[in-house]
Amino acid sequence: MTPGTTLEERAEHLLQTWGESLLSLQVREPIHGLHGGLLCPACARVHGRCLDAIRPFLSLARSTGEERWIRAAIDVFEWAEARVSTADGSWVNEIDGDWSGITVFSAITLGEALRHHADLLPPATAAAWRQRLAAAVGFIDHTFTLTTGNINYPASAPAALALGAQLCGRPEWLPRAHEFAQAVLERHVSPKGFVWGEGNKTGPSARGVFAVDLGYNIEETLPNLALYAELVGDNQILTMVADGYRAHLPFLLPDGGWDAGWATRQFKWTWWGSRTSDGCLPGLAAIAGRVPACAAALDAVLHGLEKSTHAGLLHPGLHHARRGFPVCCHHTFCHAKGLAALLDRPQPLPSTGPQPLEADGVSAYPDLGVTRLRHGPWRASFSTADIGYGGSYPPTGGSCTLLWHDAVGPLLTASMIDYQLIEPANMEAAHREADRYPLTPEIVLRHGASTWRSVRDTQATLTVDPDGAGVITRARLVDAELCNPPAGPVHAISHWRLTHNSMTLEVALQGPAGLEAEVSVPVIAAGDAAGVATTAGARIAVAGRSIDLAAEPSDNAEMPLDGRVFNHVPGFEAIPWRCRIRPDRPVRLRLTVI
Ligand SMILES: [Zn+2]
Repeated sequence: MTPGTTLEERAEHLLQTWGESLLSLQVREPIHGLHGGLLCPACARVHGRCLDAIRPFLSLARSTGEERWIRAAIDVFEWAEARVSTADGSWVNEIDGDWSGITVFSAITLGEALRHHADLLPPATAAAWRQRLAAAVGFIDHTFTLTTGNINYPASAPAALALGAQLCGRPEWLPRAHEFAQAVLERHVSPKGFVWGEGNKTGPSARGVFAVDLGYNIEETLPNLALYAELVGDNQILTMVADGYRAHLPFLLPDGGWDAGWATRQFKWTWWGSRTSDGCLPGLAAIAGRVPACAAALDAVLHGLEKSTHAGLLHPGLHHARRGFPVCCHHTFCHAKGLAALLDRPQPLPSTGPQPLEADGVSAYPDLGVTRLRHGPWRASFSTADIGYGGSYPPTGGSCTLLWHDAVGPLLTASMIDYQLIEPANMEAAHREADRYPLTPEIVLRHGASTWRSVRDTQATLTVDPDGAGVITRARLVDAELCNPPAGPVHAISHWRLTHNSMTLEVALQGPAGLEAEVSVPVIAAGDAAGVATTAGARIAVAGRSIDLAAEPSDNAEMPLDGRVFNHVPGFEAIPWRCRIRPDRPVRLRLTVI
């Protein structure tokens, strides 16, 4: 099969590609406890949530008429019954885990599989699956509250409850569904329209910043609220979802990636979203008839998934595959659900022409602690947020969390401050230092094993240039406990400036005389992007253009062109551009697109 030209044909082709790969990972050995599971090549385990594959498998059975997909769906369902299903009606996240909140997503998957494809199953199987769905929705009804898990859990409960009500003949679950949806609408939407509660659910931080995670919002919370609204005809919630996507879409990039490095759960962030969620295609499709920008976004998002697919599986980030890592199939079976949901909708999907480009200007998001600049071909974002997730913080301190050029794509991006396995079962280990290199631009002071870093400062300030083409940030260099170096406070003043074809960064250091810190600005460039040294720095070939890197004073800088560093969040390789700085010796870096 070759890729088609319509969105629906492309989605079907991608689903077939992913489906064949997932099928090849399905254990067919007659070994109790393994048979039917999807064996992950990266994690060398069967992920507890591989039950998600039932929906894409049945969608493929529908489109191809092939019996093998029905068998695959039944086998993976039975694996889940044997290994992650519990007596109280829940499913647990992993065979060795006890987190059962994910029952809400498994129930939605099972409910949607039955709603669209029950006729493909043997009648006895369909009846057994309905019974299992009733047990799961009963568990949600008895145990879920607004404080269950992060906000994407209670925000998804309405869809699960409504599916249970419709498919299991339990209308008493509908008022509960309505309660959850109303509670999210009334208590968990920020002033700028972002659902919050991915982390702190009690309210904003001291700076007025809410715990917002773009990835979970667009890929789980909003799609599942849209599903609920469509199931019961709740126009108020559908309007809320439409407003939510309007709020988030300025962060969508033309290549289908998302400017989300500032988000509270960015530790699960790949360029296109989150590993354990469904993707934003179903939510965008539900709103596409109302919001033309959502219809237009379908193409970019699908393109991003296509571009991140290698050897039949969805990879986390654009450079992950060329780095040679095995890939976790969790990305694929979760996002295959999203493709199936897209293809299960009435066809053709709403479409629209090209949308107007965002005009130059500054967008301030006080409720996110984020400032975005659009200037000519550039997009840039900066974070001064003071909110984290558990003990982990996304980069802040006025750091640049994205620099994008329309002709080249991403040039700078945020990673985690330090690569940590916040959710070990849902993240990749990075054994080599070069594979967990911090990608967020920052100023770092080192002494022995201790570091004081600008990206940790939750009290940084940011001022926008009067013409809107730059920002000045002032950050304190602090350790993990937000304390100063022993010799006293050190501040970095950074002036980011965009012109038509270049970005300049001027950094001055304020602190005790004699100290020497480092300005780190890793520039995204795949390992096969050719680079040569120049008198002022280096020239790299990216996307058919040349990128000039220059530093003043040049003898302070290094930009090794042999080999690349990498970070799994968000899956990019980069040239580790570094420059030494002292209080009496400011530095100026210039990145020019030619
Ligand atoms: Zn895996």
